[in-house]
Amino acid sequence: MQLNFTVEDDVFRAAAREWLLASVPAAPPPHDGPAARAYALAWLARCHAGGWSGISWPSEYGGRGLSPERLIIWYEEYVRARAPSVLDCTFVALNHAGPTLIACGSTEQKAFHLPKILTGQVIWCQGFSEPGAGSDLASLATTGLVEGDHLVVNGQKIWSSFADVADYQELLIRTAPGFRRHQGLSWVICDMRSPGITVRPIENLAGATHFAEVFYDNVRIPLSNVVGDLHDGWRVAMNTLSFERKTAAVGLQLDLSVKVEDLIALAMPAPGSAMAERLATLRAEAASLRAMTYRTLLREPATASDGSLVRLCFAELAQRVHRATMDVLGAEALIASQATHDYLESYSETIAGGTAEIQRNIIAERILGLPRVKAA
Ligand SMILES: Cc1cc2nc3c(=O)[nH]c(=O)nc-3n(C[C@H](O)[C@H](O)[C@H](O)COP(=O)(O)OP(=O)(O)OC[C@H]3O[C@@H](n4cnc5c(N)ncnc54)[C@H](O)[C@@H]3O)c2cc1C
Repeated sequence: MQLNFTVEDDVFRAAAREWLLASVPAAPPPHDGPAARAYALAWLARCHAGGWSGISWPSEYGGRGLSPERLIIWYEEYVRARAPSVLDCTFVALNHAGPTLIACGSTEQKAFHLPKILTGQVIWCQGFSEPGAGSDLASLATTGLVEGDHLVVNGQKIWSSFADVADYQELLIRTAPGFRRHQGLSWVICDMRSPGITVRPIENLAGATHFAEVFYDNVRIPLSNVVGDLHDGWRVAMNTLSFERKTAAVGLQLDLSVKVEDLIALAMPAPGSAMAERLATLRAEAASLRAMTYRTLLREPATASDGSLVRLCFAELAQRVHRATMDVLGAEALIASQATHDYLESYSETIAGGTAEIQRNIIAERILGLPRVKAA
């Protein structure tokens, strides 16, 4: 894909490059816990001080309102500078909660929360999935019953990333008894320090504890924390997920190209060898993912199925890149290292944010026009 950048774009790129060069922390980010929180908030505060926080947010809410072309430039420079992964514990606040509040929140909610998010003062987590509601989110069962001017919440969420260090949670609950599936849900702001909340971290394959189970035992949440209308949470949640599908993952997708180039430099494969061919294929696949990312970002209006295509290609390519890294490292990979950690974490790529099977269903039905899968 050919992108035509203007002279002004080149000036913007130079400014981004210069700032990143001077500002990217030398130490790598911790994987989880309070150290990960402190690191991510400090980095976001630094970005804010430099004018690089909330780059895709509208300027009236403190962001920079960058065009898709400028976002591309920013993320190209961001990954080139090996800046901290965008998928840290500020991800939900910047890419889900903030944009959702901008689109659906009240004036008071925006005024209270948006500045705290942009300046790196708070961590948000997402409380959508439940033990019985992951791919089929509409079957969620956690309830919030109206009692005076509060909702009283009971139930359980799971896989809530960084819930153990979060200040707030975007919480999707069933507030209208008797309604099924997508109806009668509400999207609420849950203060994670409310009495009745228990957070139990879950250790993953790589030994990190960055997601958690969250239990709610008569947790009282003011009705003023409902975002959008009461019982209209499905519409609000679809807004939340649409941000993830469009701009949120651009940094991760472009970063894969950098990882492939780093791997080629590390492997130095003999010309014509099987490894050279494998790495060349990965380089070509990363280039095609980059082109798909640009197309999704620049296409108006983007569709949810575009997001599924890119998400699936990214997830499966990321796993191939990390697998190849292990093969290049050989016996060295047995020693715990960042590369080994990343490889083990990459197994979750085809689950998080919608599983590979669900993405394939969406592509089959909405892009290829195949018949819909009938629920059993
Ligand atoms: C690293 C990571 C971070 C996460 N962070 C969060 C978070 O912060 N907040 C949050 O709310 N959730 C989070 N999740 C949860 C994630 O959204 C769910 O794991 C995901 O939606 C899948 O749901 P599930 O685990 O319940 O699997 P299930 O939905 O039970 O699926 C089990 C298997 O059945 C397959 N399957 C299910 N339905 C179909 C179908 N119709 N057709 C074909 N195959 C099907 C799936 O593909 C999968 O292989 C995270 C997950 C991971 C791995």
